[in-house]
Amino acid sequence: MFNLVIFGAPGSGKGTQSERLIANYGLYHISTGDVLRDHIKRGTELGKIADSYISDGKLIPDELMINILADVLDKNADATRNGVIFDGFPRTIEQAKALKVMLAERGSQVNVVIGLEVPDEELIDRLVKRGKESGRSDDNLETITKRLEVYHSQTSPLRDFYVAEGLYAAIHGSGSIDDIFADIRKAVDARK
Ligand code: ATP
Ligand code: MG
Repeated sequence: MFNLVIFGAPGSGKGTQSERLIANYGLYHISTGDVLRDHIKRGTELGKIADSYISDGKLIPDELMINILADVLDKNADATRNGVIFDGFPRTIEQAKALKVMLAERGSQVNVVIGLEVPDEELIDRLVKRGKESGRSDDNLETITKRLEVYHSQTSPLRDFYVAEGLYAAIHGSGSIDDIFADIRKAVDARK
């Protein structure tokens, strides 16, 4: 089992590079953003709760988010057997600790963390552009600014957490999608 965390700020390209990773490595993709947006679309109870946080640029509370992730892992036990791309999770130190425990319970661990590093100005630019087509309630300048603040205060400390675990691979996340993926491949293959 090979588990990969794709890590980075909003708009850093986690979803885009995940598509390449799925095609190349046959891993199971779990995007917590996609999971939550699916609940919002279906109008579930969870969707209603998630919507209020997401539209406000905030994170879903850890306990709830960790339960959601555990549920996705349990429901897809077969499909996740070769390994998983975790996209959008963990976003806090508490989530990272919980992931470690959840994987250990399944006889597994995180094998590499791909950290997509992109300057804030470029992130804002990309997200404002995406907002024109995505229809996402969080892709407007006010919410984008808030999401970046949340990223810097709550999520970016994870970089040091994973550096300390010897798992962090820094990837320069500006430039062409192909060039970025070539760097990701090198980092993944070095640990396979
Ligand atoms: P990218 O553009 O790089 O794919 P993103 O930040 O635009 O990333 P998602 O990962 O889709 O978007 O997440 C959207 C929102 O869903 C977050 O801003 C947050 O409110 C919520 N969310 C997703 N994952 C988590 C998590 N692990 N913990 C808490 N909230 C989360
Ligand atoms: Mg995404």
